[in-house]
Amino acid sequence: MRRLRRTKIVATLGPASSAVTTIAHLFEAGADVFRINMSHTSQARMRELVEMIRAIETKHARPIGILVDLQGPKLRLGTFAGGAVTLSPAETFTLDADPAPGDATRVHLPHPEIFAAVKPGDTLLLDDGKVRLTAVETAPARIVTRVEVNGKLSDRKGVSFPDSTIPFSALAEKDRSDLDAALQAGIDWVALSFIQRPEDIAEAKKITRGRAGVMAKIEKPQAIARLDEIMDLTDALMVARGDLGVEMPLEKVPGLQKQMTRAGRYTGKPVVVATQMLESMISSPVPTRAEVSDVATAIFDGADAVMLSAESAAGQYPIEAVATMNRIAEEVESDPNYRTILQAQRGEPEATGADAIAAASRQIAETLDLSAIVCWTSSGSTATRVARERPQPPIVAISPKLSTGRRLSLVWGVHCVVAEDAHDQDDMVDRACRIAFRDGFSNPGQRVIIVAGVPLGTPGATNMVRIAFVGSDVMGDV
Ligand code: PGA
Ligand code: MN
Repeated sequence: MRRLRRTKIVATLGPASSAVTTIAHLFEAGADVFRINMSHTSQARMRELVEMIRAIETKHARPIGILVDLQGPKLRLGTFAGGAVTLSPAETFTLDADPAPGDATRVHLPHPEIFAAVKPGDTLLLDDGKVRLTAVETAPARIVTRVEVNGKLSDRKGVSFPDSTIPFSALAEKDRSDLDAALQAGIDWVALSFIQRPEDIAEAKKITRGRAGVMAKIEKPQAIARLDEIMDLTDALMVARGDLGVEMPLEKVPGLQKQMTRAGRYTGKPVVVATQMLESMISSPVPTRAEVSDVATAIFDGADAVMLSAESAAGQYPIEAVATMNRIAEEVESDPNYRTILQAQRGEPEATGADAIAAASRQIAETLDLSAIVCWTSSGSTATRVARERPQPPIVAISPKLSTGRRLSLVWGVHCVVAEDAHDQDDMVDRACRIAFRDGFSNPGQRVIIVAGVPLGTPGATNMVRIAFVGSDVMGDV
């Protein structure tokens, strides 16, 4: 089974997609990676979902990616004596360290680290930005604010500080425990929410130690300000437009999305564009024109993946939403402008053997109109560097490691196959051709280009390209 598009689809699982048959249908409709959101999923449920996905993977004999999304340091208010209050503009409202229930003049803020980090003039956003306050006076256990935009506040609403860098880790206690459980369950990618600094990525990497790829969710202005350093450390990026649009003016989000997709293309690290992509499909079987255009824009920009959140997790049409994304991607990728745009935004190869060979393999494959670029890849890095070139011919990645195949399921254009390592160069050529034929990429008489590092299994040693004819003897066992 092969997909007829290069852009990948990430589908979030939730109550609307919790049965194994639904998850199987989502996969068949086009989901390449499943996201499990730990803000709404227990560890026991996460393990059940992982088992279900692995059963579907075995049945289809195709690696499937699992992305576990950690909740991160989501800050919340305490409670109110009456359950809720309504604030009016220009009123004074205080957040303090007193755990007593709040009223219309004050409320508890159960995060003592924040008091020292906020300065007069800083903005506070409550309840997804619906209520806006400005700090006018700060003290060791108190922030006095002025109400800018009024609204209702109720128990434990979220609060964010777009102007202040809060000195705590992106991994709260719950995140550490969820991360341990996820790593034990053998997931492939972990997404870090509300990161502010490159150190947040480094901290997560110390725990994952290569057992899962680390994806930085960019949803705070502090992370945007240090995007280059974050890019250096992270394995992938998510343009988390939901919270980004709360913490920054909404009209800045499209430009930032372009900036991040380019940073991903330039560094060769996968970028996922997320949130509200087909939002109206939560309750409608067809999307709006604007949503179709939004998904198309992300694809034209060369994003590795587009993501569904509530559409597949809690909506009425999860399978239709995946099928819709699939159709949009197939159509956009066959538009002549798609290739032109991808080419215009291609970065120069870095001065490494792997990049020189990745660039050469694209050039050769396009010049000779070869049927596929087949990469023998142990860690997945050869395939990722070839994908960075966004070549016209399909990329087939063969790895002896199931974990590599699963992780590559997020990467643009990579068709992943798990197979025993080649025994020698003849075997490498022979099986590359057989697999390319078996999976529908090449026919007898066509040619493929094979990229590998020899001796095989030495990570980071990409040093070989070979053009091979697909013979008439490729049918039969791989
Ligand atoms: P979330 O992250 O769905 O976990 O909030 C994505 C976003 O904020 O866009
Ligand atoms: Mn978010």
